[in-house]
Amino acid sequence: MLVVMDAGARPEQIEVVVRHIEKMGLKAHPIPGANRTAIGITGSARTADPEVLENFPGVKEVIRVSHGYKLVSREAKPDDTIVTVGGVDVGGNGIVVIGGPCAVESLDQTRAIAEGIKRGGGQLLRGGAYKPRTSPYSFQGLGERGLEILARVREEFELPIITEAIDDESIALVAQYADCIQIGARNMQNYSLLKSAGRTRKPVLLKRGMAAMLDELLLCAEYIMAEGNYQVMLCERGVRTFADHTRNTVDLSIVPAIKRISHLPILVDPSHGTGKRNKVLPMSRAAIAIGADGVLVEVHHKPEEALSDGPQAILPDEFARLVRECEAVAQVVGRTLQPALAAS
Ligand code: PEP
Ligand code: MN
Repeated sequence: MLVVMDAGARPEQIEVVVRHIEKMGLKAHPIPGANRTAIGITGSARTADPEVLENFPGVKEVIRVSHGYKLVSREAKPDDTIVTVGGVDVGGNGIVVIGGPCAVESLDQTRAIAEGIKRGGGQLLRGGAYKPRTSPYSFQGLGERGLEILARVREEFELPIITEAIDDESIALVAQYADCIQIGARNMQNYSLLKSAGRTRKPVLLKRGMAAMLDELLLCAEYIMAEGNYQVMLCERGVRTFADHTRNTVDLSIVPAIKRISHLPILVDPSHGTGKRNKVLPMSRAAIAIGADGVLVEVHHKPEEALSDGPQAILPDEFARLVRECEAVAQVVGRTLQPALAAS
């Protein structure tokens, strides 16, 4: 259910509607927009029909939303959401290029790569301290020590950080150290983790599960937003198909499909999507051309020594070229490269 207020509705009128929704035992999510405010209603009604709200002063209409997702939809919020990650805007007219190692391995490794990201024009640094690996014998990440390294490198290079949380224990620490919490493909449908992410007030990057339908991805974002955290970004990272010339198949068509029905920013990760270094640049160009709000790529200064995902990591110089080419493509489609934070 969605209550659409008149364009000129007064704050007191919005407040009255919100209070009435809460009195009905439901949760109200005011969503201010460019032209009007909408109020999403979640929870299950045990009292009067919320349609009574149609008669409240300042209310334009009450829309019954038939699909499961409400807060993520353009019905709730027609204009694009901009998520601010440590001072860098994601979404809107600017595009972002996020780079970094698959895993934080040491302070020296993370510094060397962050230096390349900053020099190359990237705006945000990615890197896993908690790694959900297919084999229990593979490198699992440095844990809190990895977060400390990221936080230190952020200060040195003015690069806000995105890092993955894999469970309730790690999410508390990630929320404390990082600028954005990543929920990985394997955890996309970990509902308790999604609710925990929704209870933080940190931006969340939600990656599409490797066999997830568009609706399932949006419903997982809805889990986070239903808890009151509206700072959510989506990420296409490839899905499983019969094709074996790449690690996964990057489903670029999900970008315009999402843009049509959701106001949330969507990024593309061509590194996990293809698993191959030589495909990262062309797929990044394609992602920006099709309307993605940015790309997330893995970078390593010594990929042959990387503790995880070396074969898909690009070198710092290749990253710089990727940023330049994404910027060129962005201009063709009427967008710009988001400026990076000024180095101190
Ligand atoms: C990652 O980004 O480090 C990662 C593990 O990706 P995914 O969850 O998409 O496999
Ligand atoms: Mn990886």
